[in-house]
Amino acid sequence: MNKVSLEHRAVALDPAAAGAILTIDLEAVRENYRRLRARLDAARCAGVVKADGYGLGAVQIAQALMAEGCDTFFVAHVGEGISLRDAIGPKPTIYVLNGIPPGAERDATGSNLCAVINSLDQLSAWSKAARDIGHELPAAIQVDSGMSRLGMAASEVLALAADPQAFANIEVTLVMSHLACADEPAHPANKAQRIEFDRLRAMLPPVPASLANSSGIFLGNGFHHQLARPGAALYGINPTPGLENPMLPVVRLQAKVIQTRSVAAGAGVGYGHTAVTGRNSALATISLGYADGWRRRAAASAYFDGVRLPFIGRVSMDSIILDISALPEGRLRPGDMVEMIGPSQTLDEVAGFSGTIGYEVLTSLGHRFHRRYVGVE
Ligand SMILES: *Cc1c(COP(=O)(O)O)cnc(C)c1O
Repeated sequence: MNKVSLEHRAVALDPAAAGAILTIDLEAVRENYRRLRARLDAARCAGVVKADGYGLGAVQIAQALMAEGCDTFFVAHVGEGISLRDAIGPKPTIYVLNGIPPGAERDATGSNLCAVINSLDQLSAWSKAARDIGHELPAAIQVDSGMSRLGMAASEVLALAADPQAFANIEVTLVMSHLACADEPAHPANKAQRIEFDRLRAMLPPVPASLANSSGIFLGNGFHHQLARPGAALYGINPTPGLENPMLPVVRLQAKVIQTRSVAAGAGVGYGHTAVTGRNSALATISLGYADGWRRRAAASAYFDGVRLPFIGRVSMDSIILDISALPEGRLRPGDMVEMIGPSQTLDEVAGFSGTIGYEVLTSLGHRFHRRYVGVE
């Protein structure tokens, strides 16, 4: 692991000063990559590290995956691609999923990024950039197989197929599409998208194809093509909702106790006094709030020694109040760390409490935490 890049990402908060500690297990990321790859026969496995590696540090994640032989990464934005390129060197392929915005072609080619081409207009802009530069530029062609989000419509694919000059100056390296319902294996859209993808790509250059995200890998061989593009599963999010999570957890979030107190029955707790104690209670206030990405609506719990400590009252910007009456008196003290995400309460469970998904929980996690990477050699 490259020391410089670690320092570059490490938010300069020492654990003593931080209100919370986010531990990111890079060995678990590597094991998750190995588990996904084991499900793919001939297909290769890329790593999706958009949104700063789902909030966990794109550079650290990419370097961990490279140690497993991963050589292809996907980001969403040109800026993400440029930062990643600076950190991981010239060799890996980096695709920009959202395409290259007009005017950003020079920045993109300067960092040797591969465009994901989502429309005929993007194709001609990329082709023109290649002409200006004087050499071919690499690109993935994304087709819309039924999600109606990004990618060329069938009519555009037909137009391309009819135009022998369509790919002038472009080296097509991948044909791809994205599944809308992969986390619902029984959803009829999966098969429909696969059939439509196979129909559309047959009209395009015979290059490697890519359809599966994390959950798509679990839909079986027919969805694997030549390259899988997992993100979530690498980070420990369950790619098979409703079934046991086949991935290892990657993140652990612990928050620090700032103060404890005893209150009598009938005490109003927190903003709006939305909670009033029904009995004499022991409370603890922890240094984590909605400004840290913990959603205000998420009525969850914290854990200490495996004991559940329910939230009481509203989540504040910088703090949450816990009812710690279940613990022996004096057991929890200022400076102690309680578990927010970890063995007692998984990422997917926390997401469920907030009415959201693990993806959003991870990408919302704030930057006031001390971030600790473990599993780095
Ligand atoms: C985000 C994304 C992925 C990764 O999806 P996961 O569900 O996180 O595995 C793959 N492909 C595309 C086009 C994406 O936008």
